[in-house]
Amino acid sequence: MTHHAIIVGGGIAGSAAAIALRKAGITADLYEARHDGGDYTGAALRLPRNGLSALRAIDVHDLVADISHPVACTELSSGTGRHLGTVSFTGDGHSETPRTMPRARLARTLRRAAETRGARVFMNKRLAGATTTRTGGVIATFDDGSDAEGTVLIGADGLNSTTRRLVSPTAPEPSYAGTHLVYGYAPANTAAPPSPDAFHIYWGKKATFGYTTAAGEIYWYANIASPEPLTAEQPRDTEIWRKHLTKLFRRDRTPAKNVIEAANVILPSNTRTLDTVPSWHTDHMVLIGDAAHAVPPATEQGAALAIEDAVVLAQFLRDQDETAIALEAFEAARRERVTRAGASRRSRTTHRRGTPRWIEQRRRDKNVAQAVRSGAMNPPAWLHDHQTSWQ
Ligand SMILES: Cc1cc2nc3c(=O)[nH]c(=O)nc-3n(C[C@H](O)[C@H](O)[C@H](O)COP(=O)(O)OP(=O)(O)OC[C@H]3O[C@@H](n4cnc5c(N)ncnc54)[C@H](O)[C@@H]3O)c2cc1C
Repeated sequence: MTHHAIIVGGGIAGSAAAIALRKAGITADLYEARHDGGDYTGAALRLPRNGLSALRAIDVHDLVADISHPVACTELSSGTGRHLGTVSFTGDGHSETPRTMPRARLARTLRRAAETRGARVFMNKRLAGATTTRTGGVIATFDDGSDAEGTVLIGADGLNSTTRRLVSPTAPEPSYAGTHLVYGYAPANTAAPPSPDAFHIYWGKKATFGYTTAAGEIYWYANIASPEPLTAEQPRDTEIWRKHLTKLFRRDRTPAKNVIEAANVILPSNTRTLDTVPSWHTDHMVLIGDAAHAVPPATEQGAALAIEDAVVLAQFLRDQDETAIALEAFEAARRERVTRAGASRRSRTTHRRGTPRWIEQRRRDKNVAQAVRSGAMNPPAWLHDHQTSWQ
């Protein structure tokens, strides 16, 4: 059978899948629920070298290099400004340096590359449902009443995936992971020391702060432990959050307060995890990226694994005419690696009742410094050195 793919979701996984399918000679139509809201609608991310390898396999590595900046290491410090250690992300003997960029900029660049290579891209099209046909196809329906038919539907619709509910109705829903994650952007002429090739993380008294500078901009985030998630009713107003965050960081000796005071974008969110999804595919539908397996943001691997998924799926469809066999082989090939990646960094901020915070902070700083010295914080080679080739 000649494949024709309907891709749901024009984020990182879906756009990379469209590019990879076109490289495999397969026609692909991509449907994205939103309009293009610009660069600052999501967090900045760092693409580790396994993600860059997957981009190279589909010939878009140079395009992404043009819109990103190298960030070779993470500098870890306490809230008092004391340096606790440096974690290198280039690894022993590797010249490939991870790249950082706003997530939305990466998605748009990949979407445009997909279009250039012959995929059709439809914006403002939200999947509502899908049914399989007697002739071995699948019909996707959208919330504007339109529909589209293909031989395979690829669900790349992220953590809140609609496709996941169709493919695996007993799959868990994402759950709150215990912290509010606020991220944003600021002009680089604020009081944060310019340091374009490093990401800085400070473990402050009340919250963690991270930032890097890149071409006139600061990409930053704040991670705040909280037993309760933010609710839809709570305000997302920039000035309310600026006040809240500057108060949280005011007693730390870090760039946090200055950066947040100067920030032009402040986006509050909850960290969320997804437990194991029992199955990623049916005979004509398959999940990739966050829709299938959301790894914690701290692993800095979600986007990289999503691109790997996209390339590997396109290869199975390229080499196998039977859609169901290709989808089964894809899941078998990918599940172990992404499960192991998700387990590699599951930690929570906890506060032992009765222990004064300053003692906990000293203990934590000591543990961080010790973990850096022992190499326990080094990015695991099996994850980061993984190479994706087009063969
Ligand atoms: C704060 C933060 C920091 C992170 N840092 C890193 C990092 O440093 N390195 C890294 O590799 N990863 C990082 N990640 C993870 C990374 O952003 C995700 O893993 C990655 O974006 C997953 O890509 P995706 O395409 O699967 O999903 P998404 O990027 O979420 O894209 C899904 C797309 O589907 C669309 N969609 C949703 N529903 C529908 C529907 N019904 N119909 C049509 N379209 C739909 C959405 O609008 C969206 O465009 C981070 C995540 C967060 C939250």
